[in-house]
Amino acid sequence: MPDCCAPGEYRAPKSRTNLNDYWWFCLEHVRAYNAAWDFYKGMTPGEIEMQLRADTAWQRPSWPLGRLGAAAWDGELPYRDPLHVLDAGGMKRSPKRPPDQAPSELRGPLATLGLSWPTTLDQAKSRWKELAKRHHPDANGGDRAAEERLKTINLAYAAIRTRLTTEPRLAAAG
Ligand SMILES: [Zn+2]
Repeated sequence: MPDCCAPGEYRAPKSRTNLNDYWWFCLEHVRAYNAAWDFYKGMTPGEIEMQLRADTAWQRPSWPLGRLGAAAWDGELPYRDPLHVLDAGGMKRSPKRPPDQAPSELRGPLATLGLSWPTTLDQAKSRWKELAKRHHPDANGGDRAAEERLKTINLAYAAIRTRLTTEPRLAAAG
């Protein structure tokens, strides 16, 4: 802080995009800095929502599109459990849902969005928003492959949305 002579013994991140780079302040000024800190400053409401959703999932990395479908998402845990600790703790794996429970025309779209069946319009919509943002060409330097992925994502969501909105009793099952 300009004109402050107190020793800088307290750190605070310089920005949202650079949380590992710090300013160092005295106690009084780090308190002022933290009070004025707004993590979501400059983000649109949509971006804030995305950030909140990502935080809810501990900012886990994405998965390759199409490789992990509803089945893998649902039944397979990404670690081994040789001592059956999870079973003993009552945290049994959810049984794998047979993919043939989903209407045949939705199996591809569900896999594309990484959704299990049954799903709800809300679930499908939020997953679509998340993926569409991540694979938007603007977020990938105008990458043509990203453009193709985005088209696939949009088509998958459109198919699921159409099905759920024209047959509400299926949506209610979720
Ligand atoms: Zn100070």
